[in-house]
Amino acid sequence: MSLVLVLNSGSSSIKFQLVDPTQHATDDPFASGLVEQIGEPKGKVTLKHAGEKHEVEAPIADHSAGLALAFELMNEHGCGPADADIVAVGHRVVHGGILFSAPQVITDEIVDMVRDLIPLAPLHNPANIDGIEVARAILPDVPHVAVFDTGFFHSMPPAAALYAIEAETAAANGVRRYGFHGTSHEYVSKKVAELLDLPAEAINQITLHLGNGASCAAIRGGQAIDTSMGMTPLAGLVMGTRSGDIDPGIIFHLYRSAGMSIDEIDQLLNKRSGVKGLSGVNDFRELRKMIDNEDQDAWLAYNIYIHQLRRYIGSYMIALGRVNAITFTAGVGENDVDVRADALAHLEGFGIKIDPERNALPNTGPREISTDDSAIKVFVVPTNEELAIARYAKELAE
Ligand code: AMP
Repeated sequence: MSLVLVLNSGSSSIKFQLVDPTQHATDDPFASGLVEQIGEPKGKVTLKHAGEKHEVEAPIADHSAGLALAFELMNEHGCGPADADIVAVGHRVVHGGILFSAPQVITDEIVDMVRDLIPLAPLHNPANIDGIEVARAILPDVPHVAVFDTGFFHSMPPAAALYAIEAETAAANGVRRYGFHGTSHEYVSKKVAELLDLPAEAINQITLHLGNGASCAAIRGGQAIDTSMGMTPLAGLVMGTRSGDIDPGIIFHLYRSAGMSIDEIDQLLNKRSGVKGLSGVNDFRELRKMIDNEDQDAWLAYNIYIHQLRRYIGSYMIALGRVNAITFTAGVGENDVDVRADALAHLEGFGIKIDPERNALPNTGPREISTDDSAIKVFVVPTNEELAIARYAKELAE
């Protein structure tokens, strides 16, 4: 079996999967795992393979040590580079700026270009580069491919991509909307075209990626024309811990009047806001339990979340003019029956009718949840970014 190693490297962690690019989206990968707490006194590597979970704890000095330890654990359990036929490595790279619209076979030049983009993603791109360099050193004989989270949104027209701030300042500092979760929106939107049995070029759709991070996209004829995330993944929808859209004047106010530093405001808006900031929890399963127990903060958090989501859905219906499908994906979108029902409630006048029974079915795979007479079809499509990255990597490696 030809497998692709998919790596998602963060500042203190590496998520890894060994994926058969021909597998179904809902199948478990051949192997998967996580290297955690890199650079801290206690580190951990976990591995899932053949229905079993394995774990080692050891200090992990850096990404190189982390990946080496992961490979050791995989080899020990018969699913590492020693036994598995790894034909390519796919790397998730968060920021491709305006340089990259499509996945790239990684060369030294590409790494330099990703490095040039560090000012746009200071927390993410350095970790992605670490992962790339370490993996290229350990697996030098297979092609490595970079898949950019921003790539799918490269097609956005200037009216959607640019902010109304002084043009020279914006251009000089790379200030524009880039969008994120692109691999997921693209993967899901292609699946929707298959479900409708129509070419992607013939349909307009809205995709809602609702996970801990959340974003939505307006897609015309297979091309993204707008998205809710902006220059950074902080913009747009209310998320698990991120605020989504706020009046930028709030930042000046907190700085000047509340005496908060820029780093404190950054932490506040990224880590202590969104549903968690309002209710104390960011997991929608816990939020639901609190709502069932009549917790007022949880109820308010949920309503703010839904209100913002409906705002975006409405604006994308106008932006697209004609909409064939609206699709939910990611942890919340795939599993939370109430979020889906409330996001699209009372829109019969716009041709959107959810079937409550279909909506309540468990998350077993791509499915339609609208009624047969709903003019706009509503789907749930499980996303699988690793599989999408593996497929790109295999395709470009050939
Ligand atoms: P993701 O970022 O796509 O992995 O989504 C993670 C989030 O999905 C979690 O924080 C939960 O809020 C949500 N989630 C996962 N499973 C469920 C479920 N069964 N019901 C409701 N929400 C869920």
